[in-house]
Amino acid sequence: MRQTPQREGILHVLRASDRPLTVEEIWERMPERRSGLPTVYRNLERFVREGWAESILGADQVMRFVRCDSRHHHHHLQCERCGRTAEVDACGIEASLKHLEILSGFKITHHQLMLFGLCAACRVEPIPTEGGPR
Ligand SMILES: [Zn+2]
Ligand SMILES: [Zn+2]
Ligand SMILES: [Zn+2]
Repeated sequence: MRQTPQREGILHVLRASDRPLTVEEIWERMPERRSGLPTVYRNLERFVREGWAESILGADQVMRFVRCDSRHHHHHLQCERCGRTAEVDACGIEASLKHLEILSGFKITHHQLMLFGLCAACRVEPIPTEGGPR
């Protein structure tokens, strides 16, 4: 696919980060800021449609974007402590979807699934006990 410098710039920013970024953060990190935020946002929406990126609605109700490495159907995980994201090039819930189809009578055409937890690094770190009982 042919990329304009603007699109290249956005992809570069997404690739360089292991955490999802807001539109503003992406815009701030772009080497050349010839276009405004609305253009960056439009490009990000296109990336999501085309499968180059995914949008994640955080617990703070802010939309952030993360790159997609896999060109197949896949899912993302986000660490609740450090915010890092990981991508798994697999689905793993096909059997559950079949079951949901039977229960609902729906033919499920697609789905989105975001997984939250603790990443490998955060799992081994002790939980900080600030202000808590000793
Ligand atoms: Zn993705
Ligand atoms: Zn983590
Ligand atoms: Zn899936």
